[in-house]
Amino acid sequence: MATTHTYDALVIGAGGAGMRAAIELSDQVRTAVISKLYPTRSHTGAAQGGVCAALGNTEEDHAEWHAFDTVKGGDYLTDQPAAQLMAEEAIDAIYQLERWGLPFNRTPDGRIDQRRFGGHTAEHGERPVRRACYAADRTGHMILQTLYQQCVKRDVRFFNEFYCLDLLRDAHGAATGVVAYELATGELHIFRAKSIVFATGGYGRMFSVTSNAHALTGDGPAVAWRRGVPLEDMEMFQFHPTGLAKLGVLLSEAARGEGGIVRNKDGERFMERYAPTIKDLAPRDMVSRAIYQEIKEGRGGGPNGDWAYLDITHLDPKVIEEKLPDITEFARVYLKVEPTNELVPIQPTAHYAMGGIPTDVDGRVVEGAAETPIPGLYAAGECACVSVHGANRLGTNSLLDLVVFGRRAGVDAARHVKEAPLGDVPERPTERTLSMLNAVLERAEGENAADIRKELQANMFDLAFVVRSEESLSKMETIIGELQERFGRVAISDKGALYNTDLMETVELGFLLDCAQALVVSARARTESRGGHYRDDHPLRDDANWLKHTLASRNDDGSISLDFKPVKMGPYVPMERKY
Ligand SMILES: Cc1cc2nc3c(=O)[nH]c(=O)nc-3n(C[C@H](O)[C@H](O)[C@H](O)COP(=O)(O)OP(=O)(O)OC[C@H]3O[C@@H](n4cnc5c(N)ncnc54)[C@H](O)[C@@H]3O)c2cc1C
Repeated sequence: MATTHTYDALVIGAGGAGMRAAIELSDQVRTAVISKLYPTRSHTGAAQGGVCAALGNTEEDHAEWHAFDTVKGGDYLTDQPAAQLMAEEAIDAIYQLERWGLPFNRTPDGRIDQRRFGGHTAEHGERPVRRACYAADRTGHMILQTLYQQCVKRDVRFFNEFYCLDLLRDAHGAATGVVAYELATGELHIFRAKSIVFATGGYGRMFSVTSNAHALTGDGPAVAWRRGVPLEDMEMFQFHPTGLAKLGVLLSEAARGEGGIVRNKDGERFMERYAPTIKDLAPRDMVSRAIYQEIKEGRGGGPNGDWAYLDITHLDPKVIEEKLPDITEFARVYLKVEPTNELVPIQPTAHYAMGGIPTDVDGRVVEGAAETPIPGLYAAGECACVSVHGANRLGTNSLLDLVVFGRRAGVDAARHVKEAPLGDVPERPTERTLSMLNAVLERAEGENAADIRKELQANMFDLAFVVRSEESLSKMETIIGELQERFGRVAISDKGALYNTDLMETVELGFLLDCAQALVVSARARTESRGGHYRDDHPLRDDANWLKHTLASRNDDGSISLDFKPVKMGPYVPMERKY
């Protein structure tokens, strides 16, 4: 037997997307949030640079320009109606955060200040535009705190340090609940609800160099995948150009937004050659690839010639102090570099998952090319694929995605609660969950999870990072098969029930392996280059064959099948992406 809890709606994850959905839900129905972290520790709190909307506070701007930039930034894999809707709803979403008390930086006349960010332009690429609203370089922290306060005010019930391990679906496929593990006691709980919103964040921890926090292991996508939900565009992963060298800790694009420059070992501002119009403010995929090219041609710095440099030495120290305090501190603490008078060594870092659980613009999880909604199942935030970011997300569009689509998912999930009956859940945790945990706990000796994780991360960095090929991806696919097989023999030394973090980290590794497998199989299939997915054996974008989304599903024997669905087009005709 397990404790069973019944709510109208459940949100899995207490980051920006989860809490934004919970606010909307709890105004109407009884809502609980299950989170493996304390809400304010979610990765949203690490977001630095900003959240965008065409407020036009410091110069002319329009939602239509924002929509265009999002579609072009996404290399035309973006579903255009979703991008248009996000750009339009952005403005209200930002003012809503302001009314809830978010302390944005201000213009001298008291309006929300805005700064430049990569790929955000005026008049369809003519020049960079100031669209990113920000609170110093702690924008995500402020968003998370603001949303948490609103949840507390509404008495949202939080189950903290509860890990969702399985999704419950009834005989018709509708979502009826989840199974969760309570870290403090080792007890399994069944949660039953009419609407379930997954908002579990990304999965950057599959790479050795990443900006992502330890907890970002793709639990939501993997749980859904194991219960038959296909995953969309998993090959589309963003590598951010300015991670601290060797560590991957992020230096926000805000540094370039404020005038920072990327240089090679000869001190050259090489982005002038790759993106003559907007230079260092080109989208992330292009800057990361430019860095790769510089390194390949022998112009990388550092002991192994694999670094580039971020230069902010020419910025006014007051701007650095007021607008970039955290990231300059990171350079001092982690690399012992003084950014006001030294160049900061950087390298691309695994940053953001564009792919994930497929949803429509109301957050409903949809299956197959026909996009059939799964009753009661929703997803929002980084674990979801709306698809609003296409093949490459623009900076500041993720925090925006959380508040726009988090809200929309909450609205529709509340509607569903009012219309649908409460589904059935089993009395006992699913056999799948029990055997997964018991197998690890009962095994006296076996493989070490940390070794498997390290091998996964190092190989993903070598073989499925900024540059990929049939050769590298097929090798990676074989390696994942071997790692999966070894994972089946993992043993841990802590057999206890209380705070067994060993056990949960092992479970998370299993989720990560699943997401990596889906990523690699999808990447291997996509024989073109688009956005964050660059194949040096297929260096060009191929709209004739690949202007479509991938959908990866797992078969019973563990193999993967791929299906496809068309991109939803709109006013913007795909053109060559130049900046
Ligand atoms: C360093 C950094 C800087 C960034 N800067 C910016 C920026 O300036 N602008 C921008 O737009 N974007 C930025 N991003 C991206 C953006 O912050 C993220 O995409 C976004 O915050 C993800 O929010 P989320 O709500 O989807 O997930 P998260 O905030 O990651 O929250 C996930 C939640 O899910 C819970 N969870 C996960 N698995 C389980 C499970 N199995 N059971 C229960 N709970 C679970 C966790 O406890 C957590 O509460 C940045 C990202 C990073 C890493």
